Amino acid sequence: MNTVDTVVHLVYLACATCFVLGLHLMNAPATARRGNQLSAAGMATAVAATVVVLARQHRITAVAVVVLLVGVLGGAIAGLVTARTVKMTAMPQLVSLFNAVGGGAAALVALGDAVERSDVPAALPLRTTTTIVLDLFIGGLTFSGSLVASGKLAGKVPGRPVVVAGGRGLVVLLGLSAAAVAALFLTGHGGIAALSGVTIAALAVGVLATLPIGGADMPVVISLLNACTGTAVAMAGFVLGSTVLIIAGALVGAAGAILTKLMADAMNRSITAIVAGGYGTGDEQTGGPATAAHGTVRETTVDDAAVQLAYAGKVVIVPGYGLAAAQAQHEVVALAQALSERGVEVSYGIHPVAGRMPGHMNVLLAEANAPYTQLKDLDEINPEFARTDVVLVVGANDVTNPAARRPGNPVSGMPILDVDKAKSIIVVKRSLGHGYAGIDNELYTDPKTAMLFADAKVGLQALITGLHAYA
Ligand code: NDP
Repeated sequence: MNTVDTVVHLVYLACATCFVLGLHLMNAPATARRGNQLSAAGMATAVAATVVVLARQHRITAVAVVVLLVGVLGGAIAGLVTARTVKMTAMPQLVSLFNAVGGGAAALVALGDAVERSDVPAALPLRTTTTIVLDLFIGGLTFSGSLVASGKLAGKVPGRPVVVAGGRGLVVLLGLSAAAVAALFLTGHGGIAALSGVTIAALAVGVLATLPIGGADMPVVISLLNACTGTAVAMAGFVLGSTVLIIAGALVGAAGAILTKLMADAMNRSITAIVAGGYGTGDEQTGGPATAAHGTVRETTVDDAAVQLAYAGKVVIVPGYGLAAAQAQHEVVALAQALSERGVEVSYGIHPVAGRMPGHMNVLLAEANAPYTQLKDLDEINPEFARTDVVLVVGANDVTNPAARRPGNPVSGMPILDVDKAKSIIVVKRSLGHGYAGIDNELYTDPKTAMLFADAKVGLQALITGLHAYA
């Protein structure tokens, strides 16, 4: 190994250290931005070092330089424009799209490498052919699965479970076919045709496995696909013999796997059952217009709600997706502050899957500088509801639905925020519209519940004004 090689390896090591430290910094909202910057700097340095290596090996032709430049510039501009213009509410589908891009890119790396060496397939060592096959399969299914998940989150594909007749059997059949064709390739037969078979099977498995997942289970699926992206990238690292890619992929894969387990635990689900489409397909009617078929809905006014809040001893605010959609995080924090100044004990009840991405509510409330001490997770806040005077539910629906305590519906078994145990509940939302799981919320017909029909931002602003009248 000459001096340049040694320096490049040391640079790769430094980049890997940046990834690990970056991930560590992302543990806390206060340091998360720095963690992101450090990881991005590590990745940019790794890309630059790789260009140096390729140039030294004289593997960059004039055409390759043009292709690389077009790719880098096109990707950078597209990424920059999207990141700067994306609405916070569209972030989950964007993350899913990034997962698709990562998985697809990793699969292309494997395919490209195989095509490059297709004239000497027998000379490829088993460790290379194995990683090529794994990379193609995992990357392919991540690509198509993430595209479907992104479509579901964006509302372009039905969010409810889409059950394809015989779909589960087909997935098993496709998996077995992919394994058989992969075995052919591993034993030196079939070449690119065999790899194409594996790729097509993987793409079909991704679509068929993601379509039937719906109800409230998408958070687990998204983090699982994220773990798959990391694994595919690590496999691509093995194919290319790139240590830094292996480390980066392994970190994403491990972090995604841990998040998947945490989300599944939070939903009281088994990962296997979610992937097999065992949830979200309950026998209750989903979709269709929301109704108040099971009771009467009581409506309240801004003035009445403001009085109730002003004279409460303890208030718990439960934010949900509607808060994010309305971008009302600053208003909710201003209301909480106004209540605290009146001597009301205020806290926020944060459900792990509230919103549309893991940690969505924490991110929003941190952005609006809500005091961390007031943010309480499900286990911490649930015992407090019984001694809470008023729960203010802002744009949350599924995470408060008592139907979760009964079997046979898309949210069955999911731990919920026990807001119905409080002395009174005010719900701010625009209508009796459904949440992501597509079912009626029994909380709205609870005699203790009063509905304040309004956009979250407008409703909260009105409540702040109303509250000041009682100063
Ligand atoms: P929900 O999706 O259950 O409900 C959101 C509610 O917000 C709707 O009923 C809607 O009612 C209301 N809303 C929408 N826009 C506004 C607005 N501008 N102002 C006021 N209200 C508004 O949200 P939750 O947070 O309770 O639950 C999250 C759901 O999403 C769960 O089912 C979860 O599994 C799923 N999910 C979560 C992901 C994650 O990672 N966190 C990822 C994917 C799915 P209305 O139209 O009447 O106003």
